[in-house]
Amino acid sequence: MRGLIYRGPYNVAVVDVADPVLRDEFGAVVRVSTAGICGSDLHIYEGHGFSDDTGFCLGHEAVGEVMAVGERVTNITPGMRVLVPGSVGCSLCRPCRAGRVARCHNNSNWLNSCYGLHAGLPGSQAGMVAVPHAETNLVPLPFEVSDAAGILLADNAPTAWYGARRARIAYGDTVAVIGLGPVGLMAVQSALIMGAARVLAVDLLPERRERSVELGAEPIEGDDVKAALRAATGGRGPEVAIEAVGTDATIELALKAVRLGGRVSVVGVSHNRAFPMHMQVAQVKELEFAIGLCSVQYELPTLLALTTAGRLRPEAVISHRLPLSDGAEAYKMFAAREDGVSKILLDPDR
Ligand SMILES: [Zn+2]
Ligand SMILES: [Zn+2]
Repeated sequence: MRGLIYRGPYNVAVVDVADPVLRDEFGAVVRVSTAGICGSDLHIYEGHGFSDDTGFCLGHEAVGEVMAVGERVTNITPGMRVLVPGSVGCSLCRPCRAGRVARCHNNSNWLNSCYGLHAGLPGSQAGMVAVPHAETNLVPLPFEVSDAAGILLADNAPTAWYGARRARIAYGDTVAVIGLGPVGLMAVQSALIMGAARVLAVDLLPERRERSVELGAEPIEGDDVKAALRAATGGRGPEVAIEAVGTDATIELALKAVRLGGRVSVVGVSHNRAFPMHMQVAQVKELEFAIGLCSVQYELPTLLALTTAGRLRPEAVISHRLPLSDGAEAYKMFAAREDGVSKILLDPDR
């Protein structure tokens, strides 16, 4: 099969790689019909990856058809159209059985909690992908949900929903969403569905702010974003900030921008091992702070229902559909934020 492999910083290529095989009696092999490129793939592309491996397939967002399953797999059968969630758990422990795969008791190496981070669990920007513990890590996809929506539901939409959920958005809240990539745009939608009165949208790029306005957000402009957020909220700041970038500057903005008793929820992937938080200010402010990685499987039942009903619109964030053979150009464009890029889908058949 063909696969998009990581060779080193700013160097990816679509090449012939070995077809995946069943890992064990719990596994499955899926033929990928559509794959997505995630913002966290860019961390690897830009040389801030999670391991020193090279030569492995990237990607952790896929929709496809089941080709083969191991003999212990009972709820998934060949021929099924499935979503492959980006988060990976086992099918044995209690948290995973409840969908809380990020809390798996049997995962000794966190690099195995997502596809395409290292050679041990190759990614799905490829013709096929090997799936461990298929009972947990494959989800049958209703026919009403398109491949394109399914790709967003594999990671970005559940991550946004999880971030919004952990911020405990209450009816009538004003919510700032910081970072308007695909996760941020899904966070705008999530906050409004959860009852936010207003969503204030923060991003350096005007075209990203424009996309958020189409989804119902108010754009925040100007050099002093904290002051603009205050000015938009009668001087007090929003009740909630959802941070979907992962840099120190954007996390700090979120912490400073929220009002007294505010809630900050970070879902941007952070690499910092020593973030300085002003404890006295946080305490006086009665700040609530949440950070984590989403268990996609846990959020999916809710999001599939909202998508099927037409209330959540994952397709709205898609900007490009390209053949897998253009994968290297796609990464280059995504990294450079060119051509109004938001979400890129790849077609492995082309
Ligand atoms: Zn991702
Ligand atoms: Zn587990």
